[in-house]
Amino acid sequence: MTTQGPKPVLLWFRRDLRLADNPALTRARATGRPVVPVYIHDEGAAVRPAGAASRWWLDKSLRALSESLTERGASLILRRGDSEAELRRLIDQTGADTVFLNRLFEPEGWARDADIAHALKAEGVECKGYNGTLMARPGNVLNGSGGPYKVFTPFLKALLATVEAPSPMPAPQDLPGAPALDSDRVEDWGLHPTRPDWSTGFDWTPGEAGAEAALTAFVAGGLSDYGAGRDIPSRPATSRLSPHLHRGEISPWRAIAAARAAVEAGTVKASEADKFVAEIGWREFSAHLLHHFPTLPDAAFRPEYDAFPWRDDEAGFRAWTKGLTGYPIVDAGMRQLWTTGWMHNRVRMIVASFVIKDLLIDWRRGEAWFWNTLVDADLASNAQNWQWVAGSGADASPYFRIFNPVTQGQKFDADGRYIKRWCPELASLPAKWAHAPWTAPPEVLREARVRLGFDYPRPIVDHAQARDRALAALKVVTGRGQDAAQD
Ligand code: FAD
Repeated sequence: MTTQGPKPVLLWFRRDLRLADNPALTRARATGRPVVPVYIHDEGAAVRPAGAASRWWLDKSLRALSESLTERGASLILRRGDSEAELRRLIDQTGADTVFLNRLFEPEGWARDADIAHALKAEGVECKGYNGTLMARPGNVLNGSGGPYKVFTPFLKALLATVEAPSPMPAPQDLPGAPALDSDRVEDWGLHPTRPDWSTGFDWTPGEAGAEAALTAFVAGGLSDYGAGRDIPSRPATSRLSPHLHRGEISPWRAIAAARAAVEAGTVKASEADKFVAEIGWREFSAHLLHHFPTLPDAAFRPEYDAFPWRDDEAGFRAWTKGLTGYPIVDAGMRQLWTTGWMHNRVRMIVASFVIKDLLIDWRRGEAWFWNTLVDADLASNAQNWQWVAGSGADASPYFRIFNPVTQGQKFDADGRYIKRWCPELASLPAKWAHAPWTAPPEVLREARVRLGFDYPRPIVDHAQARDRALAALKVVTGRGQDAAQD
């Protein structure tokens, strides 16, 4: 079935599930031709399949996108299968000769897109790719010798110096669509969990409107004290934009523009907005690193770390995933992750350090658990951060910097509010003992109705011993280990 009149163009949505600030959509609309918006659920692609929490998000995000498109006169065509085959089928059905898309910069997606563009070009169909997900295209921010930056601070400096914020692109009022085409129903894709539905604690509003609402709330709230507040896990002081950014429901430049506008309006200090921009810079750094170093999710960036003597500790790993290690800040974080699909950044660092350094479990196992349970699971950011904690990454925290889960808890959750929320069995324990319940006198535990080993576990490792063990293991890799630092 080909259509009469001007040939339509295809608009291939992937990780840009929004209408505003969407370069591919804006360019497709500007052709004046009918636009056929399509999303292809390609589970067989080489690209790592989305984890369970991320699939939950995708389900809602696609519904939101579909509604926004319908309001503008176009309908989102959903197809499941091989991307190239589905695009070809759509091209046959519509007579389209152009595919508009925002690029994926992860190596596998990048290579797949290039193959598809090459194959379609041979048949007279052009793929037009844009950057709709990052502040700058990887390759546009390079060091003096023309290579990728491996250290964050100079990368950020160069990023902010070389790229300019693009002008906002408002969502179109209307989008002339093409005649009806066959489409899957998103509810048939099984993205939402059933049997059991473990998502009942997921308190999120996926989609472009949800992203904008999160940004507005953050700019009016947490941003003014972001530098200090972002480290306190009991405070809603961060933006919670990560899953929205991952699915491209908002562009990083839009978030930056809102923070900078608050500075202009005098409601926020420039230093707070700069800190927020720097954190978005870490997302950018991760994406650029992965683009240039495709093995980042699978192999140590510093190859000597692949000789690390990791332990097989199935029981320890299970206790970690379930939030039953006996260290309240670790357990609170892991339960927050399981319940909500998200964990506070400070606590992500603590739990990652615990599984890597206290349990000596390979960082890749932790990375895989996060991949499956985080709504913001992102190949580049996840791998980069896990390698940062492991000490094996590009601009990593040194391995010998070992987080002490008790003092970290006491420092960043001094009143114990965060751990009591996620470990309610410790709710009546005075803050003084809350981060190390095994040190509390028996009468305090009795009063708080905490029986260690019954209501709440005893620590599965002794941190001081585990730390010595980790430093000894480190010597295998670097020959160092004695100059330990503790946080
Ligand atoms: P905000 O503090 O409001 O920050 C704004 C934005 O900056 C975030 O939305 C995010 O896009 C970006 N950002 C902030 N910190 C980082 C960082 N350290 N690295 C990369 N980007 C950052 N973030 C992910 O988006 N996906 C992941 O899979 C992921 N895995 C992680 C694994 C570990 C072990 C650690 C320590 C961190 C990980 N992070 C990951 C980074 C960070 O924890 C989250 O981006 C942040 O907690 C999201 O909350 P927010 O949106 O409220 O952040």
